[in-house]
Amino acid sequence: MELRLYDTLSREKRTFVPLDANNVRMYVCGPTVYDFAHIGNARPVIVFDVLFRLLRHLYGEAHVKYVRNITDVDDKINDRAARDFPGLPLNEAIRKVTEQTGKQFHADVDALGALRPSVEPRATEHIGEMREIIERLVAGGFAYVAEDHVLFSPQAMNAANSTLPRYGALSKRSLDEMIAGARVDVAPYKRDATDFVLWKPSKPGEPSWPSPAGIAAPGRPGWHVECSAMAWKHLGEYFDIHGGGIDLVFPHHENEVAQTCCAFHQERMANYWMHNGFLQVEGEKMSKSLGNFVTIHELLADWPGEVLRLNMLKTHYHSPIDWTMKSLEESARTLDDWYRAAADVEPGKPAASVLEPLLDDLNTPLAIAALHGLRGSDVNGLAASLRLLGFLSESAAQWEGRKQQASGVDAKDVERLISERTAARARKDFKESDRIRDELAAMGVTIKDSKDGTTWEIAR
Ligand code: AMP
Ligand code: ZN
Repeated sequence: MELRLYDTLSREKRTFVPLDANNVRMYVCGPTVYDFAHIGNARPVIVFDVLFRLLRHLYGEAHVKYVRNITDVDDKINDRAARDFPGLPLNEAIRKVTEQTGKQFHADVDALGALRPSVEPRATEHIGEMREIIERLVAGGFAYVAEDHVLFSPQAMNAANSTLPRYGALSKRSLDEMIAGARVDVAPYKRDATDFVLWKPSKPGEPSWPSPAGIAAPGRPGWHVECSAMAWKHLGEYFDIHGGGIDLVFPHHENEVAQTCCAFHQERMANYWMHNGFLQVEGEKMSKSLGNFVTIHELLADWPGEVLRLNMLKTHYHSPIDWTMKSLEESARTLDDWYRAAADVEPGKPAASVLEPLLDDLNTPLAIAALHGLRGSDVNGLAASLRLLGFLSESAAQWEGRKQQASGVDAKDVERLISERTAARARKDFKESDRIRDELAAMGVTIKDSKDGTTWEIAR
């Protein structure tokens, strides 16, 4: 069985052939840690976790290296630190913000059933690699120093007579059009409007490091070069898969390619570029001003993480996803059923009917349809397939217990009412037994009578 992946650069689905099957390498752009992650940020986390799990299944756990960075140098972090900790020196305040937000991010994505990546590099720990890349770019004539900034020149890249990729190839933009359409209020230190920042000076009190390229004033890196440096350090100059949300194709990924390829004289940075579509809420773009902006943390107060995970995977990663309450409720009911059927059974092998669609560019909606099919025919296969996809982290009893806890229903009260109802039925007092059934229903409890007695569960 071969894996096929859609590659944003070549705009086609291609068979995945790793550069080294003993060391399959994937990089995904991670969060900028200044605030709670929202449910849109959860999409790349979940999508690339499924890919990570699938690659581990195919090549072996020890042979897949997944790197997802933490961006902990950013103006948004500085602003947040100054606002939340006005009494502290800025650097200390920044450490507090990035530590708290980083911890929260981990708690959130752990609850979503995402495995921790093999490495989670922090930008602040890779300033040396960033300086090295910048030095190489300046020496190669792809970047220049101006007013204590270092700028990358896409025009120099495209003028180079070499096997380098064209700037704009990933996002299918033409540099000439970018130049023609450039804004007029371009920073005065840029030679051309399309030049982007590799390094910039820091204001007093802001985080700063010794600058590259002979600049005396201390400074800090631009965002794009952070990822080039961390990917290089942990995966090398050229690796298998680079992922992130569709909004990152331009300029972030276009610029990563430019930096890495020009610094290391490579034709490519990654063999496959994968991008997830955007998430919107109840048919509208998610934004703070519309009031439909929702964090993972808030959703986890109402729903188990696996419900959010399933809800995300019901849509193919490439398509936009509409996040609705109705769909969440349906996902919760599906998981209740799967937990009852498969959580406590011995897992068999992941079913071919589930694996095949996954291997076809992570077609999770088809894989989920196949899971529904297994429910009636092969619960062992269902259990193994669900586990492969990152579900069933709890026992059936834990799952049901959590639901009871979340509903505020005390199992003792339910058991007492059920035995009162059984007694009423025994003395043929059906008015009373119906009244008790209604009382339970009002508590959100449904009951089922069978010859073995009465069972109950919390209705969704
Ligand atoms: P950011 O912190 O904004 O850089 O985003 C972190 C990751 O989440 C990136 O891969 C983004 O592409 C992705 N992302 C941000 N917003 C959304 C959204 N609404 N839907 C899907 N992915 C998103
Ligand atoms: Zn990145």
